[in-house]
Amino acid sequence: MASVELRNIAKSFGSVEAVRDVSLSIGDGELVVFLGPSGCGKSTLLRMVAGLEEITSGDLLIGGQRMNEVAAADRGIAMVFQSYALYPHMTVAENMGFALKMLGKPRAETERKVAEAAAILQIEELLGRKPKELSGGQRQRVAIGRAIVREPEVFLFDEPLSNLDAGLRAQMRVEIARLHERLGTTMIYVTHDQVEAMTLADRIVILNKGRIEQQGSPLDLYEKPVNRFVGGFLGQPQMNFIPAQLVSSGGATELAVGVPARRVLQFANVVAAAGGTIVELGVRPDSISIVDPMLETALPAHVVVVEHLGGSSLLYVQVDGLEELVTVELRGKTAFARHETVGLRFDPQRVHLFDGGGKQIES
Ligand code: ATP
Repeated sequence: MASVELRNIAKSFGSVEAVRDVSLSIGDGELVVFLGPSGCGKSTLLRMVAGLEEITSGDLLIGGQRMNEVAAADRGIAMVFQSYALYPHMTVAENMGFALKMLGKPRAETERKVAEAAAILQIEELLGRKPKELSGGQRQRVAIGRAIVREPEVFLFDEPLSNLDAGLRAQMRVEIARLHERLGTTMIYVTHDQVEAMTLADRIVILNKGRIEQQGSPLDLYEKPVNRFVGGFLGQPQMNFIPAQLVSSGGATELAVGVPARRVLQFANVVAAAGGTIVELGVRPDSISIVDPMLETALPAHVVVVEHLGGSSLLYVQVDGLEELVTVELRGKTAFARHETVGLRFDPQRVHLFDGGGKQIES
């Protein structure tokens, strides 16, 4: 097992700055997920840890040793790719044992380790098959098995579940979490799927345009996003962003929304520059409740679409004066129907305010 440390890591491809000044310490045995939209630099970062991509500047340490110039094979890592990268002419057992064979390990030891890994992944009955005789999910298990057999200090996963259908992805996600619990090995996992990140990670590192936007435990990031990007990236259905105005009112500050404006929230603390400051209210669909639209602090809205999802229902509602529909998530079934007028009430403990630059305003 080993810690991984990135110190001011940067990577340029010609004039493209794919990774900019990333510093990060990953603890021994931690499962860290790099999460971000396409092109944010997460794969490049992982490939630099793996030794598949040269580091333009900065230092990479694994287990306290500087690794910048160390060959991929000597870094004590094993990587699992989205494409599986299995040898088509070899059986599953041969694929899994190949790295140990290349290292000149005794055949009995290789066979024992392959059998152990196959048992963990429940693929014992597939050991004699060739990759083309396997389903996508089975191939991915073999790719993971091949990594386990090498007993690496650090596992690297590059979007390993992207080629699987939704059901299988959910199942494999749980298996990877169990694998981490069982082996306790340091793991770095790259994905653009926020559900995967939320369910797997000890810590999520959110990347955007080659930089870290925020890092922390899944719940911390979900509940306390430092900016609009993080708030919008984590959470399904997505956080609503509603244009609003901060208005001074006596010793407090009120938040006005819609046309005509309704003062829907009151804050004791946000008084700074509140004289009509335009902000954005960030509120998750499950932090809005439906109340009587005649109530003074309710925001009236018209139901446009209702989605019944079984365990929950989504209302898409139109607020006068707002361009975008607001999404409301309600538990269980709902009796609300299209064209109905409802009142929105925002949970004051679970709202976020973002300034013009998208930064969270403390409230
Ligand atoms: P995705 O989820 O789409 O794989 P990513 O977050 O993993 O995206 P990277 O593959 O790390 O993103 O790419 C980061 C940036 O670097 C992108 O702008 C990409 O076009 C660029 N890039 C990556 N590899 C190369 C390369 N070999 N040559 C030139 N540019 C590259």
